[in-house]
Amino acid sequence: MLSGKLAVITGSNSGIGLGIAKVLAKQGADIVINSFSDTSDDYAIATDIASEFNVNARYISADMSDAAQCRALIAQAGEVDILVNNAGIQHVAPIEEFPIDTWNAIIAINMSSAFHTSAVAVDGMRKRGWGRIVNIASAHGLTASPYKSAYVTAKHGIVGLSKTVALETAEDPITCNAICPGYVLTPLVEAQIPDTMEQYGMDRETVVRDVLLQRQPSRQFATTEQIGGTTAFLCSPAADQITGTTISVDGGWTAL
Ligand code: NAD
Repeated sequence: MLSGKLAVITGSNSGIGLGIAKVLAKQGADIVINSFSDTSDDYAIATDIASEFNVNARYISADMSDAAQCRALIAQAGEVDILVNNAGIQHVAPIEEFPIDTWNAIIAINMSSAFHTSAVAVDGMRKRGWGRIVNIASAHGLTASPYKSAYVTAKHGIVGLSKTVALETAEDPITCNAICPGYVLTPLVEAQIPDTMEQYGMDRETVVRDVLLQRQPSRQFATTEQIGGTTAFLCSPAADQITGTTISVDGGWTAL
């Protein structure tokens, strides 16, 4: 369904981004895998996707905390039809202890990177007459939790950016939407469990059950495949008139 399309997924050597890359490749899209680490494992991920799904896939290293590198990623990728802004980091701390550098990094990687990549990608999408921008926001783009000031701010910001880009491209065959996942068990979530244990004075099992999944009425983690499937749906003809909105994949979190 997506053969002939080129998809760039930022932050895709792990977790949700890798899951999205595999689902889009399964549908025939050519893939650009991105991270900032530039290791042989990163290049191997692209090689494996190319051989498993019989598509073109390559790895481009670019640090999404750096405006110039965000822009260069899109320029280097070529004719980008599908842009998935997924790169993200997290830090859990009370606001009065929140490190300033970490605040700046989260705002840059989780929010401003999508401004830079979209600003470069939209022009080519307009010229070629088709484009899909999918921003991976979060349930924290619609609601808040304590101790996540930078993350909640960035995710609310990317929801606003999605609406604005959607309006600016509304008369073109381009859509821009945000997916708002609840908890997905990826390295990003694994990494915040110890901090949350400390903040709440709980053991791991209690944090998972009573803090993470307490907000998720299904009491199940969403999966990377489900976020990939939602991204593929937004790239399908059924979603041609879906733009400037959010789709929650959160087990009912935002219905509460
Ligand atoms: P992850 O840690 O598995 O993946 C994060 C990805 O971002 C990695 O590929 C990493 O290489 C990349 N990345 C980090 N800093 C980067 C930088 N400076 N430049 C380029 N790439 C960088 O985490 P994940 O859970 O898969 O998260 C992916 C996205 O989904 C994030 O935006 C996150 O906020 C969002 N999200 C995750 C969950 C969840 O429960 N896991 C829920 C809602 C939203």
